[in-house]
Amino acid sequence: MGSISADLNKPHAVCIPYPAQGHINPMLKLAKILHHKGFHITFVNTEFNHKRLLKSRGHHALDGFSSFRFETIPDGLPPCDADATQDIPSLCESTTTTCLGPFRDLLAKLNDTYTSNVPPVSCVVSDGVMSFTLAAAQELGVPEVLFWTTSACGFLGYMHYSTVIEKGYAPLKDASYLTNGYLETRLDCIPGMKDIRLRDLPSFLRTTNPDEFMIKFVLQETERARKASAIILNTFETLESEVLESLRPLLPPVYSIGPLQLLVKHVDDENLKGLGSSLWKEEPECIQWLDSKEPNSVVYVNFGSITVMTPNQLIEFAWGLANSQQEFLWIIRPDIVSGYESILPPDFMEETKNRGMLASWCSQEEVLNHPAIGGFLTHSGWNSTLESISSGVPMICWPFFAEQQTNCWFSVTKWDVGMEIDNNVKRDEVESLVRELMVGEKGKEMKKKAMEWKKLAEISAQKSTGSSYMNIEKMVNDILLSSK
Ligand code: UDP
Repeated sequence: MGSISADLNKPHAVCIPYPAQGHINPMLKLAKILHHKGFHITFVNTEFNHKRLLKSRGHHALDGFSSFRFETIPDGLPPCDADATQDIPSLCESTTTTCLGPFRDLLAKLNDTYTSNVPPVSCVVSDGVMSFTLAAAQELGVPEVLFWTTSACGFLGYMHYSTVIEKGYAPLKDASYLTNGYLETRLDCIPGMKDIRLRDLPSFLRTTNPDEFMIKFVLQETERARKASAIILNTFETLESEVLESLRPLLPPVYSIGPLQLLVKHVDDENLKGLGSSLWKEEPECIQWLDSKEPNSVVYVNFGSITVMTPNQLIEFAWGLANSQQEFLWIIRPDIVSGYESILPPDFMEETKNRGMLASWCSQEEVLNHPAIGGFLTHSGWNSTLESISSGVPMICWPFFAEQQTNCWFSVTKWDVGMEIDNNVKRDEVESLVRELMVGEKGKEMKKKAMEWKKLAEISAQKSTGSSYMNIEKMVNDILLSSK
């Protein structure tokens, strides 16, 4: 941390994630990398999430970095004290309609040379689905990079919502189309995703409502993406080359800069290294428990920060895991069963007490990198998928919503690291897929493939020579450090 006058000469990046766990995590990693490259950082959380971070990380966790500072803006939703997942469509509606004013005011405050004591804002790095920020960057005359924290394939799916709608595939004619096999229709109108089924596209299309807010939101955000100075994606070239090739003609320069969890390892600032972004408190007992287990012996079960399920689905997963006879680490978020306490049957608890560990939140990257983990039962969120691939761990995919369906299709059919489980989950299928994953032939093949992807991910992140390493360098020099 240099002297005050030196700090004021730094380029200043304002990083603003969409206020959900799967967006804050990769944005914080990118912010650390930019800081390492000499940027002053302002990291903008919503007031709601800032409070949660302070609670889960300790009250001084976000202080003490003179050139890496946190600021807040309101998310526009009614106040809430719970450590709960916010409703995503409401949050999208609220951020898109209410956050521009407070964000503008924040930029003005940062640029007030008499009071701010920080360098003038020189660029904005905004989440792709917070594209209202483009107007504020434009007013200041600074470049803005949009960080889509989805997979490239998920993003391509969103970019083609307009195509799918124009061709008449969506919205659905009536509710029977959800169950009559129509969603199995294969599409040939999306270059880079030939033969994808309608049901593998990001899920907001599955509606009969022509005025569905999430469709309008996607159309608005993807249209605005074309106006950014550049787009960045947390993926790597070898993993999604065909999709990236299909995206590039549609957009400003697209940089693949992932997996960020590997790239961030080049940051050597000890203080910043410890700065985490978990909104829930991590339970370190999970790692201690894994330490006592044999290599590749434990199946890890975690459905991320947003997925919810019915009490019956929870029970089917429980008995499927129990009947598979495999050891498991199962993270059950306190609000995973919407409207109910997530209560597991006492006889399940009794039967699995010697081979199962239950917790409410963990350090997932640490878990996936633990040698004891042999497979991952996941909701196919992009961060989880990429973290699994980068750790060489094969998956069972139970996609919940958004582009998770697309990530699942790619994991199963293109990357050969996943098996899909039916949405209408049944204990027998859980049991047989978990067995297959952990001790079956298919499981072995997927493990081998996952290890190959892990190697390729590492190559992409290599200092000086890796494609993602070089893309970050290029994005910084060509876009963030350029004056508009
Ligand atoms: N995560 C974690 N601990 C948990 C569950 C999730 O650290 O117990 C992290 C996980 O590593 C990932 C993020 O939360 O970085 C979840 O993002 P993802 O895109 O996989 O799913 P989402 O939560 O957005 O559905």
